[in-house]
Amino acid sequence: MIKDVPSLFGELVFNESVMEARLPADTFKAMKKAMGDGKRLDPELADVVAKAMRDWAVEKGATHYTHWFQPMTGITAEKHDSFITPAKDGGVIMEFSGKELVRGEPDASSFPSGGLRATFEARGYTAWDPTSFAFIKDSTLCIPTAFCSYGGEALDKKTPLLRSMEAINKQTMRVLRLFGNTTVTSVKTTVGPEQEYFLVDRSLYEKRPDLLFTGRTLFGAKPPKGQELDDHYFGTIPTRVVAFMKELDRELWRLGVLAKTRHNEGAPAQYELAPIFTTTNIATDHNQLTMEIMKRIAARHGLVCLLHEKPFEGVNGSGKHNNWSISTSDGVNLLEPGDTPHENAQFLLFLCAVIKAVDEYQGMLRLSVATAGNDHRLGSHEAPPAVISMFLGDELTALLDSIEQDKAYDAREKVQMKIGVHVLPRFPKDTTDRNRTSPFAFTGNKFEFRMPGSSLSVAGPNIVLNTAVADVLSRFASRLEQAGDFETELHNLIKETVKEHKRIIFNGNGYDDAWVKEATENRGLLNLPSTPEALLCYLAPNNIELFGRHGVFSETEIRSRYEILVSNYCKVMRIEGRTMLDMVNKDILPAVSAYTRKLADGLNAKLAVNSDLCVEYEKDILKKLCNLLGLISANGKALETELGNVKQITDRQAAAEYYRDNVIPIMKELRKAVDEAETVTDRSAWPYPSYSQLLYGIE
Ligand code: ADP
Ligand code: MG
Repeated sequence: MIKDVPSLFGELVFNESVMEARLPADTFKAMKKAMGDGKRLDPELADVVAKAMRDWAVEKGATHYTHWFQPMTGITAEKHDSFITPAKDGGVIMEFSGKELVRGEPDASSFPSGGLRATFEARGYTAWDPTSFAFIKDSTLCIPTAFCSYGGEALDKKTPLLRSMEAINKQTMRVLRLFGNTTVTSVKTTVGPEQEYFLVDRSLYEKRPDLLFTGRTLFGAKPPKGQELDDHYFGTIPTRVVAFMKELDRELWRLGVLAKTRHNEGAPAQYELAPIFTTTNIATDHNQLTMEIMKRIAARHGLVCLLHEKPFEGVNGSGKHNNWSISTSDGVNLLEPGDTPHENAQFLLFLCAVIKAVDEYQGMLRLSVATAGNDHRLGSHEAPPAVISMFLGDELTALLDSIEQDKAYDAREKVQMKIGVHVLPRFPKDTTDRNRTSPFAFTGNKFEFRMPGSSLSVAGPNIVLNTAVADVLSRFASRLEQAGDFETELHNLIKETVKEHKRIIFNGNGYDDAWVKEATENRGLLNLPSTPEALLCYLAPNNIELFGRHGVFSETEIRSRYEILVSNYCKVMRIEGRTMLDMVNKDILPAVSAYTRKLADGLNAKLAVNSDLCVEYEKDILKKLCNLLGLISANGKALETELGNVKQITDRQAAAEYYRDNVIPIMKELRKAVDEAETVTDRSAWPYPSYSQLLYGIE
């Protein structure tokens, strides 16, 4: 039983109330400024904060501290240092200085840098991010930090995310001032990432090299029952899973993560956790922490948490819905329609900014979710296609139409829609026209970006979203700042934006093949089904300029990111290919071969007794399996050859494309033959736990 959640919540976090209780008043005030408006903290004050942090952490049983950071591996990194310092009497005291809080110098030579830092210049720096609270994990005080090279280039996901938040803050403030707002001091984007995942039994998991090495099954015949009955979604949660979820919530609450919703997802053995939204960089830190804690708690329950985008073929994969909005320091959500014509005009302008940003930077948004794992999910009738479009709902679309065409919005009123005159209707959050097939849906007061894969850090998509919207807002602000008549210019600006960018708005069924045709052929939208082609968007001059203009990425940083992602794609493909070969050569071929021998022995034994005995079954299966053995062996050899060929390709982009065009098709053929063999082989002779066991094994 979990007692007293409010007192448990955040007990491992050095949060605002702890700071208020433990810091001198002026230090606390300075910290609040640093956290709220990104004001730099005076170095002397860092010493005061460090001492308070140490006292608090040591009281809670911490022995070590670490700069917790998010390198380009996609997961978090930490190197623990204990607080101990030798004392005069030969003993030790626990120490932690402001210098140690503010800056760290991990030996960072093994983190991916995309050529930014040669290994002989191994030094990287971590710098404290005071906008995200420190917390205790494993008796270690974890300090959220940004990670940079010796030359100041970002080597992580947090640095550009913070820069992008600064960019959108700056441009939104310009727009708000134009609307006469003088009270808002800063603007932040907010994110609520819904996290999908699978749970499988640990003992079964350990018997599958594919799950162990790649996080997904590379083989596995479909079970007799998939998800066609839709009986798992929102169903009763299995007892073992409830026990896992309870402990997970408890641990997350202690770490100050606002875990809110838990339920069964669409596929068997698939679940979801959604937190309450918060400031984007904190939501990102918390989501990284959530994924880590999920894996650990699962282990305590004899389970494994699979965060891969597509662990099982034939059932839904897992995504991470990135709910996104913009919020002011006065607590106003700028994507929420207001109660007055003035507020509505402002809402429409921000809405149009997002529409324009998504249309203009479609490629970057697609790229922000591009990974080898997510390629299996996008466009598979369970997730949006690889084409970006936006869902606004019929009501909002009709409203924008009427603005564009100078028509009356409400037919009864017969009055033309003019910005700054009308009060818009509220757009209910949960209307029936909610569209779950759209990659980017407006849901009443926020946008839901549904393309990110389940294992992805949400930093990437939010860097793109924040920067793209900041860019459009800066152009809007410049135009409105020079306008003679603000209202007229605003009206024209909205009208023009709708006209220019309405092609990105699509309220229909995104899973329908006809949509991809319509999107690409009639609307000219980008369709980038695979990672290798999506990654090229990084190198497009207008995208390089976008990030440069807002100080989010320098060209060198962008190029290094492209390098990291393209080589990551190749590595993932290589590991998958080699794992397949390993399984085929060491388990599958020997098992099938042994089983055919057993069948043949049986057949011969029967014939030795009497040549009239019925041997149809043995003959039939033997024939099938012998054919399949040939196919498996041939495809295995072909895969080996292709893996050899691709190794010769030095250009990484060409190698990535070779994997996509030559290696993946053979992997598919190989899998087909193996899965077919599984369906006719004696259950006890098959070397791996089946899909049925993996997907239906948890009570
Ligand atoms: P679903 O999309 O499954 O129906 P919900 O509507 O419950 O889920 O909410 C999805 C997520 O959106 C939650 O994490 C919620 O906190 C988040 N959310 C709500 N408002 C905002 C906002 N203004 N900014 C960002 N995220 C938000
Ligand atoms: Mg959702």
